[in-house]
Amino acid sequence: MRFSIAPPQSEDLSNPSRTIQSYWTETAPPERPGAPLEGDVETEVAIIGGGYTGLACALTLARDHGVQATVLEAGDIGWGASGRNGGIVSIDCTQLSLREKQRRVGEAETIRFYASQAEAVVNLRALIAEEGIACDASGASVLEVASSPRGYEEMAQQVSYYTQKLGLRARRLSRDALREESFESPYAFGALECAPAFSVHPLKLVLGIAAAAVRGGAVLHPNSAVRSWRREGRRHLLETDRGTVRARFVALATNGFPPTRLQPSVTSRALPVLSNIIVTRPLSDEQREAHGWRDHRPMYDDRNLLRYFRMLPDGRFLLGARGDVWGTETGAKAMRQALLRDLEAMFPAWADVPITHFWRGPICATLSRAPSIGRSQDDPTVLFAFGYHGTGVNSATWCGAALARLIAEGDDGEEGIPSLYRGRPPRVPFPGLKPYLVGAGLLWRGLRDRLGF
Ligand SMILES: Cc1cc2nc3c(=O)[nH]c(=O)nc-3n(C[C@H](O)[C@H](O)[C@H](O)COP(=O)(O)OP(=O)(O)OC[C@H]3O[C@@H](n4cnc5c(N)ncnc54)[C@H](O)[C@@H]3O)c2cc1C
Repeated sequence: MRFSIAPPQSEDLSNPSRTIQSYWTETAPPERPGAPLEGDVETEVAIIGGGYTGLACALTLARDHGVQATVLEAGDIGWGASGRNGGIVSIDCTQLSLREKQRRVGEAETIRFYASQAEAVVNLRALIAEEGIACDASGASVLEVASSPRGYEEMAQQVSYYTQKLGLRARRLSRDALREESFESPYAFGALECAPAFSVHPLKLVLGIAAAAVRGGAVLHPNSAVRSWRREGRRHLLETDRGTVRARFVALATNGFPPTRLQPSVTSRALPVLSNIIVTRPLSDEQREAHGWRDHRPMYDDRNLLRYFRMLPDGRFLLGARGDVWGTETGAKAMRQALLRDLEAMFPAWADVPITHFWRGPICATLSRAPSIGRSQDDPTVLFAFGYHGTGVNSATWCGAALARLIAEGDDGEEGIPSLYRGRPPRVPFPGLKPYLVGAGLLWRGLRDRLGF
């Protein structure tokens, strides 16, 4: 099975039979759940994609609604973005500013959207506790670092909206306050702290959700890419290399790995964008002290092309950023170099710290710059959830559960879904245009950062 972000691609993005070497794969237990599909099976709901969306959907269907659910995943469980992200659990899976949200859906629905995002963080923490998922969950808030004095000024408005309208815990930290309680850097001009948020080991999390789904009664088939999909009367027939699944409903949970030949009326609306991560060797006490580092909260900054970072439990530093749309080896080398330059600019004293890991994967954007949950217009027994814009740890788990309710409760399941998630985003007429569109978006965002608007 090969995915087509844009040819030619490197193996880590296109070949699910290849294990992704990352800091997470090195530090998670090696066992992976489930066995490839062999033979012909019947199920109520077939779910394509074994990441947070697909597994949360399967868990909710099987455990909470007693509905038979079968997950088909092209690689190992968690092979996609769910097993290789930055592990920052925080809010806002859109690329819309507050004002843009208010213009699009009005004040009440904007507040409902933010409430659902905060609920997604809280629910995930509760799920981790209830199911006893050992995924190194820690912290209770996130810092958004201001990369300019203007950025810091603008955070005042955000804080008052978060606290007064949304009832979230938020506050601004001046540059001095940041230096006192967190870290010091020539690039940081203050920060906004927002709760709820926390951090996890993302691969341990996805494996833990998978184990909970199995305990709840779901069936998982890794290494079982869906090759073809057709209707057979009232059932869908999905074919893998060594078996078939007949199902009344199909849930597409493929996010940044849209299989172009399956259900193009949905998958043509998903825009993969690569996100890249470096991890350093553990920093010595002196190296940490050079930037006064004393924080384990996850962080990102306020740039349009944002950087996200966190100190890992064993003292390594993780830094990530978006960039590259073609997925070639040359692009990977360029992104690794770009991250090294970022590390040096943000934390000059760490410029020479060796990098031990580099990997990447696709996040999923949409032309509406918002996620999408719903049913196919052509066939109401086909459902989907995608487009979390790189904030998927909370959002994908929440959307997967919402998808399950849509299936199990029919129209009643729609009630809890704020309107920002509803409706399909515009489709990209030719799949070959996707990388150009995404590339143009990245260039535009980079330009805005450089020119400061
Ligand atoms: C490098 C990186 C860093 C990130 N950092 C963060 C972060 O810090 N915080 C955050 O909130 N979000 C982050 N994200 C985003 C987050 O990881 C995703 O939004 C989330 O994992 C999406 O989950 P998912 O289940 O929808 O998709 P995925 O986990 O990508 O799963 C989709 C699955 O579908 C499978 N599939 C596709 N086609 C088929 C087929 N035909 N048959 C069977 N299976 C198929 C794929 O193999 C894949 O495993 C990051 C993403 C990346 C790549």
